[in-house]
Amino acid sequence: MVLAQLGGRISGAIRQMSNATVIDKKVLNDCLNEITHALLQADVQFSIVSDLHTNIKRIVDFDALAAGHDKRKIISKAIFNELCRILNPGKKPPFTPKRGKTSVVMFVGLQGSGKTTTCAKYAHFHRSKGWKPALVCADTFRAGAFDQLKQNAVKAKIPFCGSYTESDPVTIAAQGVERFKKENSDLIIVDTSGRHRQEAALFEEMRQLAEATKPDLVVFVMDGSIGQAAFDQAEAFKQSIDVGAVIVTKLDGHAKGGGALSAVAATKSPVLFIGTGEHVHEFQVFDAEPFVKRLLG
Ligand code: GDP
Repeated sequence: MVLAQLGGRISGAIRQMSNATVIDKKVLNDCLNEITHALLQADVQFSIVSDLHTNIKRIVDFDALAAGHDKRKIISKAIFNELCRILNPGKKPPFTPKRGKTSVVMFVGLQGSGKTTTCAKYAHFHRSKGWKPALVCADTFRAGAFDQLKQNAVKAKIPFCGSYTESDPVTIAAQGVERFKKENSDLIIVDTSGRHRQEAALFEEMRQLAEATKPDLVVFVMDGSIGQAAFDQAEAFKQSIDVGAVIVTKLDGHAKGGGALSAVAATKSPVLFIGTGEHVHEFQVFDAEPFVKRLLG
């Protein structure tokens, strides 16, 4: 089920509840059952769905609600708020780069998650707001990674560095950060290797890169279309490195609904942006409320 279909089913359930002549416990239960089924069928983790169900039942307590309360409104609001809560784990706000001061932001994530594309989008986004970003390619594992970053950087006219000959990513990253600090870049973006499995060597390399570049922020890039696997992935990364924020990619029209919701919930870190396509401008600041509003149509 894609994201739009999931939204359609949830809003359909809310509409059916609203159209009932009398709002009683049965109407609420029918509505919640339809929503929980839709979420589960869309691959949202059971624990998330179960929490949502329990919380709404607690908020919409028929025995405690005085007569005259607009139950339709209270139920709709509770559902909306719960969906926002899932997408907004409410942890401390992430580090925000400051203008006029150099910040280093390191991107981590598995190969194929969309890291390199996202580095370019992040650089482009900030450049359009007047920043002086620069890109460092510290992915020496994937053949073609440097060419890809270079191509994106040239197209967006963003300074970049990497190497075809140096095989040590730590050396490249350290030199790149040093160079762009001297050139007064205010946002140095380090793209790292993702390989294809969560192997110990990858995490060790990330630790060394972090030691060498002292990032102000580590951004975990996660593929929003992979469903439940997102949980394990987010956890493995968070255990190995101090992830400060997340960017979820591939939340386009084809994204699996529940996988995307679970992915966002799984990170337990603030989601900064979402990627909604392959192009550099297909990138949005993430905000739970408008996201849910759009989801419900
Ligand atoms: P990396 O291995 O993590 O650096 O991943 P890449 O940046 O090479 O991206 C892997 C693939 O995902 C490429 O084909 C990208 O064009 C594609 N991609 C990245 N972000 C998005 C997105 O938000 N939406 C879609 N549809 N594709 C994306």
